[in-house]
Amino acid sequence: MRARLIVGNWKLNKTPSQARTFIERLKEALPKNRRAELVVAPPFPALQAVRDALGQSGDVLLGAQDMFWEDQGAFTGEVSAPMLKDLGCRYVIIGHSERRQWFGERDESVAKKVKAALRHEVFPIVCVGESLAEREADRTEETVTTQVERGIGDCSAHAIQRLVIAYEPIWAIGTGRAATPEQASAVHQMIRRLITKQWGNDAAQAVRILYGGSVTPQNITGFLAAPDVDGALVGGACLDPEAFVKMAALAEAE
Ligand code: PEP
Repeated sequence: MRARLIVGNWKLNKTPSQARTFIERLKEALPKNRRAELVVAPPFPALQAVRDALGQSGDVLLGAQDMFWEDQGAFTGEVSAPMLKDLGCRYVIIGHSERRQWFGERDESVAKKVKAALRHEVFPIVCVGESLAEREADRTEETVTTQVERGIGDCSAHAIQRLVIAYEPIWAIGTGRAATPEQASAVHQMIRRLITKQWGNDAAQAVRILYGGSVTPQNITGFLAAPDVDGALVGGACLDPEAFVKMAALAEAE
């Protein structure tokens, strides 16, 4: 049985002080004894503040929004998996479409980052998804298949089980135009079939596949009820602690 996972991607939002306030409010309002896993992914400068504010309880886990594939060296501006690990990050988002759009992320760099993260036991949340033009040209399956094969194709069956894949159609991110649960589920099932074919049933049953793209407290239940949807990667709606708590509570329902 895969534990549900809700990840809040803060993107370029919140200073360390604002992050601390957010976590204090979150901790007060979160339901206790949860089964679903909750992750917040603040920008790098706020990671330490969030870690300190979260304390040792493990109630909410820490994630980063990106990383470089080398451990150390002359790579100005980058951060590495050992640095994230030392800061207490359990997860790292890799290959977000905004990294692909604005910062030249490619499937090849995604593959290197995934391997480096796994080597240091920071678990990758690998983002894939088609553009509107690709969907309209009926090329969703082709695009997502290529991204999955190139991004994680080199991983062993053992490593695959520790991965999270986030299906995020680009046209749904930050637009208020979410996919339907049926559209999301169809792509999730396609991804799981692909993993079964390449790495076998055990690996495919272990991988969690999240939907991302304009998820809100109003629509999250539909996604969580859809076959093969194991949780959500949430951008805009996770910036408000009350909305994040609401989604966390809805993730507890059967
Ligand atoms: C995201 O940042 O991954 C995302 C899905 O954003 P939003 O929820 O704002 O569409």
